[in-house]
Amino acid sequence: MREKKTQQETSIGTKSVWAGEREYLVHGATQVPVVLSVAYGYEDMDEWYDVAIGKKPGHIYGRNTNPTVNALEDKIRILEGAEAATSFSTGMAAVSNTLYTFLVPGDRIVSIKDTYGGTNKLFTEFLPKLNIEVTLCETGNHKEIEAEILKGCKVLYLETPTNPTVKITDIARMTKAAKKVGALVIVDNTFATPINQNPLELGADIVLHSATKFLGGHADALGGVICGPKNLIDKVYHYREINGAAMDPMAAYLILRGMKTLKLRVTQQTESAMKIANFLQKQDWIEAVYYPGLESHPHHDIAKKQMKGYGGMLSFALRGGVDTVRSFLPRLQLANRAANLGAVETTYGPARTTSHVECTPEERSAMGIPEGLVRLSVGIEDVEDLISDLEQAFSYLSGK
Ligand code: PLP
Repeated sequence: MREKKTQQETSIGTKSVWAGEREYLVHGATQVPVVLSVAYGYEDMDEWYDVAIGKKPGHIYGRNTNPTVNALEDKIRILEGAEAATSFSTGMAAVSNTLYTFLVPGDRIVSIKDTYGGTNKLFTEFLPKLNIEVTLCETGNHKEIEAEILKGCKVLYLETPTNPTVKITDIARMTKAAKKVGALVIVDNTFATPINQNPLELGADIVLHSATKFLGGHADALGGVICGPKNLIDKVYHYREINGAAMDPMAAYLILRGMKTLKLRVTQQTESAMKIANFLQKQDWIEAVYYPGLESHPHHDIAKKQMKGYGGMLSFALRGGVDTVRSFLPRLQLANRAANLGAVETTYGPARTTSHVECTPEERSAMGIPEGLVRLSVGIEDVEDLISDLEQAFSYLSGK
């Protein structure tokens, strides 16, 4: 007779649907309820006290914990194979609260030049104000990153693939260097999702997501999540509960619902992105295509080793720069032109108005982001339709 599988033993698509929910289902509900109550009442003063000091499980106040939010944290924690998770109002709150928890004046952090624009602003504007030394290495220059880590640092912060040029950093190799100097390794896994990459398995201490993107998948809720060992997550949770960037329960519900289809969506988006990248490479109007699944990508081998799939994000530079972008993007029909990614609808955005709007043209250029770069978040539409939409937009450019 076959043994019954525990939920932990199921595969990731099954976990996306079922994991983390059971203990939150009440009154026979099959879906996690949205608990909007701000506070939780107690008749018994001793029980209230025990819950308040964390001796007993339960909820006190919505800025600290909420059952709907907890269900979402549990689901993501299980998908990332982590001991603990905590959540935030946005992805940027996840980044900033995590960094502010672990860094104090006089510390040093090593990262890469190509992180998401908001994260990059923390590195270039806010952390230096606190006398935290920030060293940003050339993304993909593993020798330089290793050398900077080995000089000593408190935190190594990675994002791979990067936004928007999908550069890849070898997580296992960089983690090995970080362990030598006792640095904490944080990896932003927003682009890959737990379907395509598991940084904790590669040695990272904390994995971070903007849940606004692929996890939610429907561009209708903001959120951020981190996962890792309980002792580290508890520290960040404490910082967040006091600083107040708690996730809204309605957002948690929407992201939780979106996550039921995470594997289906991301698998489809990954397959379609590969086909679109191959198509784009052959177009006369294209100067460069950035996609880690292409053999021409400088770190294709590392991506192949550490990712299960190359993901639904790619970018391309159009010949003629911003002027061509101005004519090309409005011509597309199956497209949101918006500052978001990871949704079911295909979304295009120039880096200069989306991911790196906070940066000056000079800063973007230093990061290797051409002004005519377009970020493409592939949706779940039929890929033949997406390609024929691109075809008609290219032929419009040629006929102009
Ligand atoms: N990390 C990455 C890789 C992102 O792309 C983004 C946003 O685009 C963030 C973090 C910040 O997330 P949020 O917009 O939810 O604050």
